[in-house]
Amino acid sequence: QCITHCPVGALHERDDTQKVFQALKDPDQITVVQMAPAVRAAWGEELGLSRDEATVERMAAALRAIGFDYVFDTDFGADLTIMEEGSELLERLKKGDAKTLPMFTSCCPGWIRFMKSQFPEMVSHLSTSKSPHQMFGAVAKTYFAQMLGVDASRIFVVSIMPCVAKKSECDLPTMDDVGTGKDVNVVLTTRELIRMLRADHINVHHLKDEALDSPLGTATGAGVIFGATGGVMEAALRSAHYLALHENAPADAFKAVRGGKGWKESTFQLGDTTLRTAVVSGLGNARKLIEALKNQEVSYDFIEVMACPGGCAGGGGQPIHDGQELAEVRSDTLYDLDQHAALRYSHENPSILKLYEDFFGEPLSPLAEKLLHTDHEAWEMPGKRSCLDLDHKLL
Ligand code: SF4
Repeated sequence: QCITHCPVGALHERDDTQKVFQALKDPDQITVVQMAPAVRAAWGEELGLSRDEATVERMAAALRAIGFDYVFDTDFGADLTIMEEGSELLERLKKGDAKTLPMFTSCCPGWIRFMKSQFPEMVSHLSTSKSPHQMFGAVAKTYFAQMLGVDASRIFVVSIMPCVAKKSECDLPTMDDVGTGKDVNVVLTTRELIRMLRADHINVHHLKDEALDSPLGTATGAGVIFGATGGVMEAALRSAHYLALHENAPADAFKAVRGGKGWKESTFQLGDTTLRTAVVSGLGNARKLIEALKNQEVSYDFIEVMACPGGCAGGGGQPIHDGQELAEVRSDTLYDLDQHAALRYSHENPSILKLYEDFFGEPLSPLAEKLLHTDHEAWEMPGKRSCLDLDHKLL
């Protein structure tokens, strides 16, 4: 019942694999694929790969075997999101405007739809930063197209996501900032990726690890943890600390935001500023938090919300195992990848620094505002569905 009635489109699947197979056959299209952080923690589950065997590098080999021209990483987009969202948070804190504080994260389209339909008077509190894969799409069709010397219309961007709500996100009229049609052409779920591998008879056990392509395949551990509940908050705090104080806090200084609990609160010090944070996953918890905010029972500066319980690791597009909930195990894989990453701060990603140097200038620059931010008020929710009030009890 949850799958057919999910009010925010986080569970309702549409198969788009044929659109991708067609693009792969078209010699005029340059196919660019990106995979979300949480996908790397789940893609091997139905293919008989252990967690150690299901590396992101083996997934890169699998995607090249399917026929993609460039294999990149949404974690690059996540690092870029942190640069924009962290800067946006500091700006809002400086202004102290009650209309925009507390600031809510904006990378979960299921949550955005929930906020717009249930609490439209609070939409100004959402960060305007686009989700990482949409930022990636806009960068692929501008900066990367320029690097290749081709027209943006020849770049076909496919996002492999743990998420079905992102299918409708890429269709929004506000997600054509490059002006050549959708910035992300097709969103596939982890389950659809597995279907494509099976349809092409690709035996992933025989594939060797291959490096991702550059520059949009370079990412940090901060980008990887986006796939776990609390990960966006932690990554943002690592960089907000640097942006505010010009020095890094230890990478694990903000780990109090981790864990599968549906509503977590923490307080951190950024120099003289005390930052009160909350992390919620599951829309039932989001509703309770907003009602508590409105009743002035709680008070925060920065809030992360993910529609799926456990965050994207437990997303509606991930492999389903009857009777098993794997969000926590997958999140552990992501935290392990972060722990062993060569770089753990988004603001130290060399490809992101070069992107700002050569293209955007600085976070929140006019070009960054045009391509990396969005207006949540600029599109209408489809007619309010009568099941919304019923369904929040299920979420
Ligand atoms: Fe999609 Fe992640 Fe949001 Fe679930 S939590 S709706 S998987 S973005």
